[in-house]
Amino acid sequence: MIVAGGSGSRMGRPKQFLPLAGRPVVDWSLKAFLDTPEISEVVLVLGAEDMLEHATRLASERVSIVQSGQTRMGSVRNGFAALPESAQIVAVHDGARPLVTPEIIRKTLAEAARRGAAVAAVPVKDTLKEADASGRKVCGTPPRERYWQAQTPQCYRREVLAQALDRFASDKDATDESQLVERCGHRVHLVSASYSNLKITTPEDLTMAEALLEAREGLRREIRVGQGYDIHRLVAGRPLWLAGTRIKHSKGLLGHSDGDAVLHAAADAVLGALAEGEIGIAFPPTDPAFKGIASRRIVDHVLKKVHARNAEIQNLDVTIVAEEPKIKPHYAELKGSLAEVFRLDPARVNLKAKSGEGLDAVGRGEAIVCHATATLALRV
Ligand code: MG
Repeated sequence: MIVAGGSGSRMGRPKQFLPLAGRPVVDWSLKAFLDTPEISEVVLVLGAEDMLEHATRLASERVSIVQSGQTRMGSVRNGFAALPESAQIVAVHDGARPLVTPEIIRKTLAEAARRGAAVAAVPVKDTLKEADASGRKVCGTPPRERYWQAQTPQCYRREVLAQALDRFASDKDATDESQLVERCGHRVHLVSASYSNLKITTPEDLTMAEALLEAREGLRREIRVGQGYDIHRLVAGRPLWLAGTRIKHSKGLLGHSDGDAVLHAAADAVLGALAEGEIGIAFPPTDPAFKGIASRRIVDHVLKKVHARNAEIQNLDVTIVAEEPKIKPHYAELKGSLAEVFRLDPARVNLKAKSGEGLDAVGRGEAIVCHATATLALRV
């Protein structure tokens, strides 16, 4: 049972769905259990909103999804009610512990099968100080060697957990179910796990978890550069779309789509960095289905590819070459729009313009050109 129903008040978003080394935190937790052959089935407990968004993606033959309760214990009860009849040993795991390994799961399950109840834990490393009632003065130094930090999974013979949940049905405040098992008089056994099996609680935990996962999985970050180029004729009687925004001008860019040369060049630069061709492959200019489409739809398609490749756009730099209209007065608007369409921080976007100096077709104001460069970080 993976409990991932928290609302994540400490980190703004539910921490179990924060991105970690290219996938949501809870996906890593789930993967560890699915990679453990002893686990016949997983019951994943999710909040109502997360269910709507993630249930279809996460459910499978071995994974069923159950809605969380008001408290952690409420969620454990809901999960317990959904366990298959055949389950003899139950592992309860916190969805925000993505670094758990099949080895830790297996060791804890085996100990629970032998003894009834077992929790993954690590010896406390730091010296412990007990504070007095003021909370600021030390009143004791307990012997550190007797203290362990409890982690998850916490594993039980089914009847042991059933008895604890039943007997303390009204207990809403327990932070883990093993304390209820203790209160029933069962001996809970400690299983030496790993300091890596950390719980994502604060932003620095995420940084540490990412470094540990990248080292463990051999994930490498690679920087890629792509470039893009586009040209469209400037003609009377068309609206002028540039960088996803409409600029007031007597002429606009001719094209099968809205003619937005900036978005086309920038989108091609991103595809270039991914080594995935060019926008004309997915949006052929000959296909009537794409006649007049807004170029942000093309960018959305490209952003899906970025996501699917576990990549992240680091920056975009574009140069517009235009005789008219003057681009400089529109810098702020164009830059803001470009950042918004690509869902980037404006600090990662640059936009500049040159004139054609009266030379060639661009210089005569018959066309607008755009050059773009994109830098992407990829996990490979
Ligand atoms: Mg184009």
